[in-house]
Amino acid sequence: MMKLFDSHCHLQDQRISNVVPKLITTALDNGIVYFAVNGTSEKDWPKVKEMSDSYPCILPSFGIHPLWVTKRTPSWFSTLKNYFKANPCAAVGEIGLDKGTRGKKVDFADQIEVFQPVSVHCVRAFGDLLPVMKSLGPFPAGVILHSYLGSAEMVPEFAKLGAYFSFSGYLMSLKESKAKKMLKSVPADRILLETDAPDGLPKSDNLESLFYIEKDSSHPEDHNAQVQNAAPVEGSSSDSTCCDAKNSSAVPNETLNHPANIKTVLAYVASLLDVNQEELADITYENASRLFSYEGSKLIL
Ligand SMILES: [Zn+2]
Repeated sequence: MMKLFDSHCHLQDQRISNVVPKLITTALDNGIVYFAVNGTSEKDWPKVKEMSDSYPCILPSFGIHPLWVTKRTPSWFSTLKNYFKANPCAAVGEIGLDKGTRGKKVDFADQIEVFQPVSVHCVRAFGDLLPVMKSLGPFPAGVILHSYLGSAEMVPEFAKLGAYFSFSGYLMSLKESKAKKMLKSVPADRILLETDAPDGLPKSDNLESLFYIEKDSSHPEDHNAQVQNAAPVEGSSSDSTCCDAKNSSAVPNETLNHPANIKTVLAYVASLLDVNQEELADITYENASRLFSYEGSKLIL
C-alpha cells in the first residue's frame, strides 16, 4: 500500500474531538502513516501534546495561528518555550500572515527562534511573507508553506530560503492552468501533501470517493446548524467513515474534512503534474520524512 504523510492538519480541533480516534484508525488503514498536528492557540496546545503522547503517528507542532494572535496571553511566549522544552519532538506551527484577519502580522521572529521546521499559514500575503522570510532566513531546518497558493514566480525565491510547498484541497480553488504552472515550478524535493483537516475539504466530482466525518451528536447546537447546510449524500460509500443513515446523529458532516481525503489531494496533484500517484506518494513521503527528522523528533531517519 502507498504510504502517505499528512504534513499539516489540526486533529486536536474540538469540532472532531469525539470522533478523532476513529478518524485516525481509518486514515491509518488508508495508508496515512504520519500526521503533523498543528496547535493554533495556547488553548489547544495541551490537546496537541496529549495526542502526541497517545499516538506514535502524531507529530506535534506548537504555534499561534494569525487568527488567534490578538487573543494570546502576556505569557504566551514563555508557555510556548516550555512546551518545546518538555516536548523535544515538537515542530513550530501554525504561525503566519493573513490579510483576511485582524492579525496582520504575527510575532513571526519570536516563534521562529526555535529551530525545528515551521508550518507557515499565508493568505493573500505572499508578497509580505517573502521579505519577512528573507530577513529572518535562510531556514536550514525547513519551512512548510502550508496550503501554498502563491505564484509560480515566487517558488524559486521561497525555495532558496529552505521552503517546502505543501498542497491541500485548497489547491482546487485555483484555476487549473495556474495551479499546474505553479506545481511544475516546485522542485521535486520540496513538495508535500496535507489535508488541513478538519478544514480544507477537497472538491470532488465523485462524492463517493471522499471520506466524511460523522456529526458529533454530543453538540446538539452544531447538529442543528449542520442540518440546515448539509444536503444528504446520495449513495455514499458504506465504509467506516460514512454514516449509518438510519441514525440521525451520524449523518456525514459535509463541511468538515477527513484526514483520509489526502488521497483525493494526491490524485489531483498527481494529475496536474502528469505523474502517477504512487510516484508522488513516494516523493512526498520521503520529503516530509526528511523534513521531520530533526533532533529529538519521533521520526529519525
Ligand atoms: Zn492549518
